[in-house]
Amino acid sequence: MGTNYLCPHCRGILNVKNDIILTGRNSKGEKGLLLLHSEIGNYTSKKSDDFNIEIGEKINLSCSICQSNLDSSKHENFAQLQYINIDDSESTVIFSKIYGEEVTHQIDQEKIFSYGEHCKRYADPEWFL
Ligand SMILES: [Zn+2]
Repeated sequence: MGTNYLCPHCRGILNVKNDIILTGRNSKGEKGLLLLHSEIGNYTSKKSDDFNIEIGEKINLSCSICQSNLDSSKHENFAQLQYINIDDSESTVIFSKIYGEEVTHQIDQEKIFSYGEHCKRYADPEWFL
């Protein structure tokens, strides 16, 4: 039991315990593995040694299972995953693809929860409705 993150395309589970495993591509087109912490609001991340990304760089994120692009259709700076809670309820988690930018929005049926110290940069919530 626990919380799981699904790819919105293949619905494969992308986390192994507390690590969400994604394929990243930096602005030079180089690929590497990126591990994000599964706890919403925890911005600890790990990456493979040969994957060079800099703070402020926008990273293209793909599913590590089906390789589909995880871009959010709502905003060009965000990626999107499906989040399955312990009670089987499902919500959408949208987070910034800019390395070092701490912004996450969790959207369930009626409510939007915002996390991260940079979420005020996206203070206008209209764009993800
Ligand atoms: Zn997938």
